[in-house]
Amino acid sequence: MRLEEHCMNATDTIYDVLVVDDSPVYRKLVEQVLQSQPFSLHFAQNGEEALQLFQEFSPAIVVTDWMMPDFSGLELCQRIRADQSRPYTYVILMTSNTEKGNVVKGLEAGADDYLTKPFDPGEMLARIGVGRRIIDLNRQLAAKSMKLEEAARTDPLTGLPNRRAIEEWAFKQLRGAARHGFSLWVVVADIDSFKTINDSFGHHAGDIVIKTFADYLKRCTRSSDICGRLGGDEFLLVMTHVEAAHIEVTVNKFREQFAALSFPFQGQSVSVTSSFGIAGCVGKDTLEFGGLVRKADQMLYEAKRGGRNTVRVCYPLQ
Ligand code: GH3
Ligand code: MG
Repeated sequence: MRLEEHCMNATDTIYDVLVVDDSPVYRKLVEQVLQSQPFSLHFAQNGEEALQLFQEFSPAIVVTDWMMPDFSGLELCQRIRADQSRPYTYVILMTSNTEKGNVVKGLEAGADDYLTKPFDPGEMLARIGVGRRIIDLNRQLAAKSMKLEEAARTDPLTGLPNRRAIEEWAFKQLRGAARHGFSLWVVVADIDSFKTINDSFGHHAGDIVIKTFADYLKRCTRSSDICGRLGGDEFLLVMTHVEAAHIEVTVNKFREQFAALSFPFQGQSVSVTSSFGIAGCVGKDTLEFGGLVRKADQMLYEAKRGGRNTVRVCYPLQ
């Protein structure tokens, strides 16, 4: 591949463009104008076909005739705008001079621009170029807002979901647990005497312990479960489909693995332990999430009171 081809491929976005016209002559004319552009072109002969292609390809740009055999370009605009599940589509109406009075109606129905037939190829390219700019801006905006959404649900130090993200996920899982009768466990984890790590080896060493704990937790969490950081040295896991007989063993295994690590701080080999409180529910006896977290917290408190480096479970009432 030549360098300039590579650069084009790297930077040029391919846009899906849907052209709707019942006249084969106009479809050909539009194709001739657009075929040199970085577009993947789709052609429809009527409104129904246009809607099918719209649903299949989610085109960035639609260029549609006003008069069609089944329904008008105006109706097509309305149907495109009614579908909120897709990214923004830039719609250009093509109208003959006699239909020009309909332009206002078309714009009100959701069209972004219009072209009068017979169209000038240069004008068509320029107007589609405007559409591309709008689509690009829209995509950049969507990408930024997705990043912001993600940041609002992520703990910056560990990259784990934060309390808000876990709560959202847990509410959904609780509904599933109630409907389908599976078990759901809330595990609150807390690093033991973490303050002494900060005090003895500095805040940076403390951060390393928190990040390592988070990495371990994540590695031990099934993709169907979730773990996140509540804040400080406290973490929360929500696990489903684990039998009551296995939950303590499962969490204990994690506790032992973490305790077996040694951190090289200031020439010393430092071990860190952690404590866990667990509360669960099964099927119809599902509790609200806040209640489960409170119970798990009480269990954690007991684990700490019992000497730390241990797991305490509050089993569901059977
Ligand atoms: P316990 O065994 O009872 O849990 O005692 P602890 O010392 O772990 O508990 P405590 O809650 O008193 O200590 C948590 C400390 O964590 C207090 C706070 O200064 C520190 N901390 C909170 N967030 C961070 C962080 O992001 N990084 C670091 N390094 N320290 C943090
Ligand atoms: Mg602690």
